[in-house]
Amino acid sequence: MALTTHPADDSHPGAAAAPFDVLIVGAGLHGALIALALLDAQPGLRLRLIERDPQPAGNHTWCFHRGDVPAAVGGWFGRLPMTTWPGYRVAFPGFERTVELPYCGLGSADLAVHLRDVFSASAAARLLTGSEVTVVDQNAVRFADGRVLRAGLVIDARGGGTVGATGYQKFLGLEVELAGDCGLDRPLLMDACLPQGPQFRFMYVLPFGPRRVLIEDTAFARTPHLDHSARRAAIHAYAAARGWTIRAVVREESGVLPMPWQATVPAPALPLKVGYAGGWFHPATGYSAPCALRLATVLARHWRDPLPALTAEWRRHRRQFRLGLLLNALAFRGFRPDLMWQPFARFYRLPLATIARFYRLESTPRDIARLLLGRPPRGFGSAWFPRPHTQETSS
Ligand SMILES: Cc1cc2nc3c(=O)[nH]c(=O)nc-3n(C[C@H](O)[C@H](O)[C@H](O)COP(=O)(O)OP(=O)(O)OC[C@H]3O[C@@H](n4cnc5c(N)ncnc54)[C@H](O)[C@@H]3O)c2cc1C
Repeated sequence: MALTTHPADDSHPGAAAAPFDVLIVGAGLHGALIALALLDAQPGLRLRLIERDPQPAGNHTWCFHRGDVPAAVGGWFGRLPMTTWPGYRVAFPGFERTVELPYCGLGSADLAVHLRDVFSASAAARLLTGSEVTVVDQNAVRFADGRVLRAGLVIDARGGGTVGATGYQKFLGLEVELAGDCGLDRPLLMDACLPQGPQFRFMYVLPFGPRRVLIEDTAFARTPHLDHSARRAAIHAYAAARGWTIRAVVREESGVLPMPWQATVPAPALPLKVGYAGGWFHPATGYSAPCALRLATVLARHWRDPLPALTAEWRRHRRQFRLGLLLNALAFRGFRPDLMWQPFARFYRLPLATIARFYRLESTPRDIARLLLGRPPRGFGSAWFPRPHTQETSS
């Protein structure tokens, strides 16, 4: 159900409405977290969070490491309806590890309820759903119906975005109810003990309860096509192989994310572009929650004059982004798909602090050396001596 538009938002087509402090277009991951951070820092902010769909927050399960959360994050973060696990496991042929890095999961449905609660408790802020924006300008947005709203700061969080040469991370997840307990007390971040073929495949499993799990079939591939029915069948086969009986599928999510090796992160400019479209993601993991948390923390402090602080953040992000591009190039171009699990297996042998810094885009020169150089088994750096590719199918 779309929330009713506040009378103060109404304007005749093409007319300028009363100015607001902040307009955020897109109530996905970035728009939502930034709105929550801003309202926490400035409870009286005249903010409009504008979403095209009838519901905010889409259909995702967003995960991130607890260590990705900036130390200066506001109290809003602790109120997010999240699941937190003490760590996770990874499994490759001949190697398994329990990674003791706390890991968090945030679901769209819970985030949507939380957003509605926060906005309905606010005197000056509104969540406008079912409201498509067609033009995003430095100080104004135009809706599909012709209304115009003006504000001191406009943030474009509409998602999407194009990249240059790229591989893809493709996934389909089924959140299922099992007939018996799954036996997992923590996520299985990467179970690559699957038959490997023309795409690098692994399963990602999040246990939300003893009998409620999200099982995500993931592939790193050169083509974006995702065969939904084949992936569903693979998940059912995986569950059966683990001895799990699926009683009901309660939700499905899917996505195809770019894993580029040629892309640039545009310098911050007005209107502010955040999210994937602004280059605020990790090119080698596909995660953008660490960037969203960081941007939300920066904007909560600097929303009146955001460019200096964001430009400093962008300079740092850009360097780490380039490392991600290099690793993607090495992984996709230097390894046959059926052997691509090898550099990932080696990555997860690295010290915990190196893994944590990599995920939060804070790798040090020493971390980078560890990622690229070092003793066998084959790491990313062994792709300096590439092997020929096998032909890839498109499922
Ligand atoms: C299924 C899936 C799972 C993922 N899991 C993770 C994860 O575990 N961890 C992680 O860090 N990343 C994850 N990602 C990657 C990434 O974090 C997400 O894609 C993330 O949602 C990107 O955030 P965003 O705000 O840029 O875009 P989105 O979350 O897509 O939000 C954009 C919003 O803008 C709205 N919108 C678009 N156009 C308009 C318009 N014209 N007018 C008004 N509103 C508009 C959309 O409806 C949408 O709600 C996942 C991606 C997918 C697809």
